[in-house]
Amino acid sequence: MALYVYKFGGTSVGSIERIKAVAERVKKVREAGDDLVVVLSAMSGETNRLIGLAKEMQAEPNERELDAMISTGEQVTVALLSMRLNEIGCPACSYTGTQVRILTDSSFTKARIKEIDDTRIRTDLTEGKVVVVAGFQGVDEDGNITTLGRGGSDTTAVALAAALKADECHIYTDVDGVYTTDPRVEPKARRLDRITFEEMLEMASLGSKVLQIRSVEFAGKYNVALRVLSSFAEGNGTLITYEESQMESALISGIAFNRDEAKLTITGVPDLPGIAYKILGPIADANIEVDMIVQNIAADATTDFTFTVHRNDFLRAKTILDAICADLGARKVSADNNIVKVSIVGVGMRSHAGIASTMFKTLANEGINIQMIATSEIKISVVVDEKYLELAVRSLHSAFGLEQA
Ligand code: ASP
Ligand code: MG
Repeated sequence: MALYVYKFGGTSVGSIERIKAVAERVKKVREAGDDLVVVLSAMSGETNRLIGLAKEMQAEPNERELDAMISTGEQVTVALLSMRLNEIGCPACSYTGTQVRILTDSSFTKARIKEIDDTRIRTDLTEGKVVVVAGFQGVDEDGNITTLGRGGSDTTAVALAAALKADECHIYTDVDGVYTTDPRVEPKARRLDRITFEEMLEMASLGSKVLQIRSVEFAGKYNVALRVLSSFAEGNGTLITYEESQMESALISGIAFNRDEAKLTITGVPDLPGIAYKILGPIADANIEVDMIVQNIAADATTDFTFTVHRNDFLRAKTILDAICADLGARKVSADNNIVKVSIVGVGMRSHAGIASTMFKTLANEGINIQMIATSEIKISVVVDEKYLELAVRSLHSAFGLEQA
């Protein structure tokens, strides 16, 4: 007998019919003798709808009130599922984050979980009930309702699995696992049977939006075996774990990409100590996050400085650079928001040389110019013109043999 935490996302509970289908699945697991805690999202579209209502009241809604309201989407789905389970003869009880007591800090709209009281859940499980918990929410020390950030139900599920020492945490969603790349870009993309936490974090932070990043961090930290599966199709999904697969000796696990970045360059900067700080200090002060940074060696006592930011911050960043350009004695600012970042990710590259050259050769063969390069232990990222996104992803996918089983 095992203990599982199952999480169903918004599309999986998007209608009465779908909630009934979830109830049938849950009942089957329960009848097989396993204990089950179920975490639900709000019905798909509901959180957005609620945020829309709030904005009609207040241009920038008070965050405490916003959390009190947007947490209700999950309160509805958990009660509905619990009703259905009891209706079909499977004893169940629903709880909000406050009722469980998922204690968080007080950072409304992006709260972090501090502690989970598992007393009520344990008691219910002992009595043979399925416990249904509202995702995405908690309560702070002062009893205020908090939410965990968009997509936060994944984190609720993983945190519960960690607190309860569950055997596995299943995330049921509308895709049947984690793929070698986005199948909409490369139809030959293949579902991975397993992937390591580190790789998943890279894939997630690079734009594979299967799981909330924080949930993967949490699962890695507490070693929660995490499985992503489809709520609509059968199959084992993708297991996210520490162990590297013995069977697959793949060098690269996936190709990730990010269309949300933009590039800024300031040229002819005097090559003096403190210049990087003078450029990036004001950017940081404006709360703009910087991703890749490149500065070359100066030949003529001046240097060029390039970095990328989120596209949403592009204009703000450019305004800041334009303002400091003259002060710095720099030549000019150029800016490009028609770029994409394409990355190859794999723990296999730790122990293999020559991965980078394969990547660069592949892009060269396609005539794709590389504008920036950044590397980490398990990832190589390049910035290229956005018109090459599909070509870059597909040629790399094929060069690293990702379509074969
Ligand atoms: N309902 C919340 C959202 O849309 C949380 C979640 O679905 O995970 O972000
Ligand atoms: Mg989600």
